[in-house]
Amino acid sequence: MSVLPEVLSANESYAADFGAKGELALPPARGFAILTCMDARLDPAKYAGLAEGDAHVIRNAGGRASDDAIRSLVISYKLLGTKEWFVIHHTDCGMEFFTDEVIRGLLAASLETAALDETGFHDVGTGPGSPEAKYIDWLTISDNAQSVAEDVARIRNHPLVPSSIPVYGYLYDVKSGRLVEVPEATAVGAAG
Ligand code: ZN
Repeated sequence: MSVLPEVLSANESYAADFGAKGELALPPARGFAILTCMDARLDPAKYAGLAEGDAHVIRNAGGRASDDAIRSLVISYKLLGTKEWFVIHHTDCGMEFFTDEVIRGLLAASLETAALDETGFHDVGTGPGSPEAKYIDWLTISDNAQSVAEDVARIRNHPLVPSSIPVYGYLYDVKSGRLVEVPEATAVGAAG
């Protein structure tokens, strides 16, 4: 059973009450951007108090500073004027539960969804898989505070990122909903 009818019905209700949001400007009104994980438990609009039109939210698996995330951040400041950025990873991130080697092996064997148990991910489906996974850097995480620090440093040191933009590093705690600063990341990300 597809979720499609539920999504379209929810959108009907949302659009019915859209009001003045149709008049919002393109540049984010509060002038900041958040790079965070796609994890379904994280709702940046709620955890950071955003309304439509307030801020850019860039999401990917892990909230990693991939080339594509940096592409979005550069557009965010250069064309749309953001002045402060957050990198927010989180506790219990799925990206901590595998390595490049593991996901490459899983995908080489099968394109069906793998199962997770206490010993990690295992293929339970059938083949064939594809060797294409070996050409992707999956940007997995072994220590989530360290991954925040690494990503803030990568953004800070990127030649297309001006030193005037502070980059703050935080971990979202999925048990409490709190944002916990990663001080070494925020120190590295300080505006110069
Ligand atoms: Zn995650």
